[in-house]
Amino acid sequence: MEPAGALPPSCSPAPEAAEPPGSPALPAEERPSASAAQEARRRGPDPQGPAGRGARGGGGRAPARRGCEPGGRARRPRVTVDSSKAKTSLEALKISLRQLRWKEFPFGRRLPCDIYWHGVSFHDNDIFSGQVNKFPGMTEMVRKITLSRAVRTMQYLFPLEYNFYPRSWILPDESSFFEKEIRMMKDRDPSWKPTFIVKPDGGCQGDGIYLIKDPSDIRLTGGLQSRPAVVQEYICKPLLVDKLKFDIRLYVLLKSLEPLEIYIAKDGLSRFCTEPYQEPTLKNLHQVFMHLTNYSLNIHSGNFIHSDNVNTGSKRTFSSILCRLSSKGVDVKKVWSDIISLVIKTIIALTPELKVYYQSDIPAGKPGPTCFQILGFDILLMKNLKPMLLEVNANPSMRIEHEQELSPGVFENVPSPVDEEVKVAVIRDTLRLVDPQKQKKKDIQGFPLVLTCASTFPLQTLLPITIEKWHLYKSAEQRCQTLEHVSDTKEELLDAGPPDRLEHDANKNTEAGLPSLCLKQVFPKYAKQFNYLRVVDRVAALFIRFLGVKGTTKLGPTGFRTFIRNCKLSNSNFSMASVDILYIDITRRWNSMGIDHKESGMCWQAFVEAFFCLAQKKYKSLPLHEQVASLIDFCEYHLAVLDEKRLVCGRGIVERRNALVTCQTDGLQLTPAAHTSLLNRMATASKLADYRNHQY
Ligand code: ADP
Repeated sequence: MEPAGALPPSCSPAPEAAEPPGSPALPAEERPSASAAQEARRRGPDPQGPAGRGARGGGGRAPARRGCEPGGRARRPRVTVDSSKAKTSLEALKISLRQLRWKEFPFGRRLPCDIYWHGVSFHDNDIFSGQVNKFPGMTEMVRKITLSRAVRTMQYLFPLEYNFYPRSWILPDESSFFEKEIRMMKDRDPSWKPTFIVKPDGGCQGDGIYLIKDPSDIRLTGGLQSRPAVVQEYICKPLLVDKLKFDIRLYVLLKSLEPLEIYIAKDGLSRFCTEPYQEPTLKNLHQVFMHLTNYSLNIHSGNFIHSDNVNTGSKRTFSSILCRLSSKGVDVKKVWSDIISLVIKTIIALTPELKVYYQSDIPAGKPGPTCFQILGFDILLMKNLKPMLLEVNANPSMRIEHEQELSPGVFENVPSPVDEEVKVAVIRDTLRLVDPQKQKKKDIQGFPLVLTCASTFPLQTLLPITIEKWHLYKSAEQRCQTLEHVSDTKEELLDAGPPDRLEHDANKNTEAGLPSLCLKQVFPKYAKQFNYLRVVDRVAALFIRFLGVKGTTKLGPTGFRTFIRNCKLSNSNFSMASVDILYIDITRRWNSMGIDHKESGMCWQAFVEAFFCLAQKKYKSLPLHEQVASLIDFCEYHLAVLDEKRLVCGRGIVERRNALVTCQTDGLQLTPAAHTSLLNRMATASKLADYRNHQY
């Protein structure tokens, strides 16, 4: 299924006053140019931030006391960002913060910051408030094996919707199954001459990857046991540009898990191989520069081309490829629409387990930060233009420079304009989207704004430039200065007005001085088309409910029994003894698969297997996704009844003494009002079940 009205990429080089729907990339004139960013970097780190510089005289103003206006009026605090753990994304982050005029704390801060920018994982810092740019568990979730398992679960339920991920097997657990399946397929079709790609779990940058023609070629050296891997069907017919294989790195912002919010960057990077592509044969299987698109590998090829132009070289913008395809008559709108579907469906596959990790690190009701994360999606376009998912990176490289060998053995970091162009925009616009002050503004929306300030300071006088004029500021220096000037002017003038209005105008002004967002919301925008796939999320809600002790990710035998009992799943055909056997069987098998042994109990994937097994048992004749959906409805219904019962029997009865509810050991007698409400919920639940039964 395709999202209706997906973003059509525009290849127009002309500057645009407002962002047209579906433009894949901003025209160069509208972006803070790579050289602007380089210029900012050349000026070096500045813990004071641009405001500090402005206050010291860059703008010719009198120095103001820190935090106060000359008149003693309190300044509206700037958004604070702890960048002490940013690692390789630091350079791009610094440039973004300068453009936004936010306050950077490069060495951390004793007081809490609004945003913590981590280079590696959620756990880089102990954080109890604010926002952090990593979700707990994401690194584990997108490892090759976990991702393959999560997508496979969805492939079981919705095989056609999830055919964008190559058929994969997990080694060593499924070695014999892999061999058997391939043998059977070859027997069925002797003309089938497949190639497979073996990728070590947790590997990156092409490390340890190799191609094989036959399952028996899997290298046992190094020990699969110590380094499990995924073996995948190799996509033999990729789309070629200039006779070269390339892949796409797209940046995706997971802004929120609950409710689900996804944004996609309108431009990404295309990474090229450095040897002309040929379909795999026994002779060329080992030629990594022909088959693997990894930048980290191809940079070592003598054919690698560093280019200052985003349209040429071994690393280009994805929009430049789309322009080229469009000029050849390719329906690039359809390509984008398929890519959006792929991204949304992949995230839908990841969210259930991510929620399990999330509740274990940030239990409901405990203080903790909220999370967002930029993910790197690696996508390969097939010759027929179908996008295929290769992998998801939890820590996509945000480096904006590369190493260059000046003379033998002497290396220097030099700026990479293509990286800067794409990555700075992604980081800056992610920050704009998670801006805590905008969030506050959202929260106070609904209260009428006092408009006196607007009439005193019409917006045009507050803004020396508007976005329409952005492209007129040709030089990098001019653009940087202009941004700083806009923000300085904004702070001076806005502090005179009433607080709500100030915040409103402040946001408007900063936004007006910046290019339009490079990140496009795709969820909930296209939720209607994809919500039917979110069944496993509901299974995760059941799992989390019965985990019991906060901080765990595994379900104990008692928790599993309670789940069965509360959901009324045991009966004369399925005794509690059988429940225990099911628990032990599945748990033991999953725990023997080399998955985290720190905790004992039933892991999430084992619960999914048990749940599917119960669903198949209970609703024999239906297709799997209907069986699962029906069982979820059944469980949710019984849990809703139980909750209602508890509510009525518990606090409700004490607090509402006048309620005519008597609760007896073997049943309930309710007031007509309470009865009606309960019956309504029951009716809704059963209607829902009926509805679903007819839906699938
Ligand atoms: P890594 O994390 O090590 O980069 P990837 O899964 O991204 O591992 O694979 C590395 C490269 O191998 C990809 O960039 C792509 O060029 C190639 N590749 C990976 N999987 C496939 C596949 N199934 N078919 C064709 N090429 C693939």
